[in-house]
Amino acid sequence: MLPLLVDSHCHLDLLNLKASGGDLAAVMRNAQAHGVGYMLCVSVNLKHFPRVRGLAEADERVFASAGVHPNERPPEEPDVDTLRAMAEHARVVAMGETGLDYYRSEGDLDWQRTRFRRHIAAAKATGRPLIIHAREAKEDTLRILQEEGARDVGGVMHCFTEDWDMAARAMDLNFHISFSGIVTFGNALALKDVAKRLPLDRLLVETDAPWLTPTPHRGKPNQPAYVRFVAEHIAELRDMTLEAVSEATTNNFFRLFTLAQPAKLPQIPLPRGGEG
Ligand SMILES: [Zn+2]
Ligand SMILES: [Zn+2]
Repeated sequence: MLPLLVDSHCHLDLLNLKASGGDLAAVMRNAQAHGVGYMLCVSVNLKHFPRVRGLAEADERVFASAGVHPNERPPEEPDVDTLRAMAEHARVVAMGETGLDYYRSEGDLDWQRTRFRRHIAAAKATGRPLIIHAREAKEDTLRILQEEGARDVGGVMHCFTEDWDMAARAMDLNFHISFSGIVTFGNALALKDVAKRLPLDRLLVETDAPWLTPTPHRGKPNQPAYVRFVAEHIAELRDMTLEAVSEATTNNFFRLFTLAQPAKLPQIPLPRGGEG
C-alpha cells in the first residue's frame, strides 16, 4: 500500500481537459490511480479565483489558495483587504502564488515588490502560509521575506530551481522547498543535488500542472497524477523508497498547511512502478 501523495501546487482551473482524459473527473481518477490523494489548486489572478475556490468546495481532495501571480497585470492591484477577504474561507489554506519574477516581467518592477509585500501582510493577518514564486530574483525575494516578517507564517518556495544557498536561506526563514518536474530533467544536475541534500522534513513535491511535465511524459500536458514521477525521481536520488518520500512529503504538507484537513480517502494498492 502506497501512502497517498499530495500535489502541493497545480492549476486545475487551467488544465487542458481534452488532453487529460476528457473532464475533471477523469483527471481526479487518474490522480487516484497514481496514488495522488490531494492537491492544492493555486490562484493566479482575481478573475479565476472564484473558480479555484469552487473546485476546492466541490471536492474534499482539493484545497485552494488566494493570490495574484507576480506576472499578472490585473486592471486593479489587489490591496491587503481584498487578499484577506479572499483568504478567509474554510477551503482556502494558503496565500499565493506571490513573489517576484524578473525573468518574464520587464522595466521598473516596483509594483511586483509592493504586491509581494501586500501578500505577506495578508498571509500574516489570516494565518495562511505563503506560496512563493521566485525567478531571477533571489536576493530581493529573500530580503522582502525577511523585512516583512514572513517567518511568522512560513510557507513554500514553489517550483524550486535555485541553488543550495537560496534553499538554505529560505529554510532559515521557515520555508519549505517544493520540487516540480524540472528535477526529473537530465540537465538539472545542480537542482538534483539540492533535492538530495535537503532535510526530509522540508521537502514537498508538485506538478505546477498544466506546465513542466516530468519525465517520462515530457512533451504532454501535465496533470496532478504525474507528481508521482517527481516523487519517484527524488526517491531514486536520495536512495529512498517511494513510500518513504510519499509519507514524508504528505506529512510535511499537512503540517505546513494546518488549515488543510485530510479527508478519509480509500488507499488503493498499486503495482510497483505504477501504470506509467
Ligand atoms: Zn509559479
Ligand atoms: Zn503555479
